[in-house]
Amino acid sequence: MAKQDYYDILKINKGATASEIKKAYRKKALKYHPDKNPDDKLAEEKFKQAAEAYEVLSDPDKKARYDQFGHQAFDGGAGGFSGGMNMDDIFSQFGDIFGGAFGGGFSGFGGSRQRVIKGSNLRIRVRLTLEDIANGVEKKIKVKRKIIAPGTTYKTCTTCNGAGQVTRITNTILGRMQTSAPCNTCGGAGQITDKKPLEADAQGLIISEEVVTIKIPAGVVDGMQLKVSGKGNAAPGNGIPGDLLVAIQELDHETLQRDGDNLHYDLYVSVPDAILGISKEIDTVTGKVRIKIEAGVQSGKILRLRGKGIPSINGYGKGDLLVHVNVWTPKTLNKEQKEFFEAMRDDEHFEPKPESSDKSFFEKVKDMFS
Ligand SMILES: [Zn+2]
Repeated sequence: MAKQDYYDILKINKGATASEIKKAYRKKALKYHPDKNPDDKLAEEKFKQAAEAYEVLSDPDKKARYDQFGHQAFDGGAGGFSGGMNMDDIFSQFGDIFGGAFGGGFSGFGGSRQRVIKGSNLRIRVRLTLEDIANGVEKKIKVKRKIIAPGTTYKTCTTCNGAGQVTRITNTILGRMQTSAPCNTCGGAGQITDKKPLEADAQGLIISEEVVTIKIPAGVVDGMQLKVSGKGNAAPGNGIPGDLLVAIQELDHETLQRDGDNLHYDLYVSVPDAILGISKEIDTVTGKVRIKIEAGVQSGKILRLRGKGIPSINGYGKGDLLVHVNVWTPKTLNKEQKEFFEAMRDDEHFEPKPESSDKSFFEKVKDMFS
């Protein structure tokens, strides 16, 4: 499904000022606020959409990227929007926007009055080939995560009456003091396990093995972390599940070396091939391609195959494939070959005559990075 335009969501035009954007978001957020629309999934969705639009448009840097590239600017989760915010995120980021309209905060799902408890995050690592990274890939991975055991029911915690915290009043020399602390009985959830199957833990959770589909965008980098919202461990009761954090590990390629979005390939050609010219098949991340080596190629020449590198994770452009030509000099020759080259020693064609186009190694490296 195509994502709705952020300006349309907030019903503003592209020239809107920061205060107009904030005003428009506040209007939407108040309209679709979960306290006003209990158990209304559509309102919740609209509330989240508005928060997402506001997150981007209220940040000058993200707004500029969005204006230029649209939703594509944030596909892939690298420093961008990793797809879907949960209610806790929204309230921790934009809580101030409500300015006390809802008694200072968010009351949780389903009209219950306690803080929402979030399950713990899970971490996994995926190993990707350079081809996976270049083309983007969908991985199905078995994940062991805690879920609420079928048959488990919860009831309101009687210690805190569902508030999730207990208030204590103590008399001090300064007068009566009121302090709040998370409820020990329910751990702050406001709910405790009522019935649960034998195999479940005290919170009514069991470990379940699930296959999670993870969409990995092209251009990810070793060490990067992607977030799959809601695929971590479940929380008991009315809580929301944690997230699945996916660390990217890049596997070495047999012939290609990555340097940012560019790739490097070492091509070895024989002396006769270098002299006479030849076409050679080389590896790329999208299959083999044939390239032409001109007669008289110099060792150290770099051939640039534009756009045959890795797509940029930020959505625009692709790196290049740089083919480094290495002329392979034989170490042993038979008698006839030796005689042939002996005879060529003083031949003027074998005399090095570098032209200005035969740049030195250092100039080539300088070129490559400019
Ligand atoms: Zn409690």
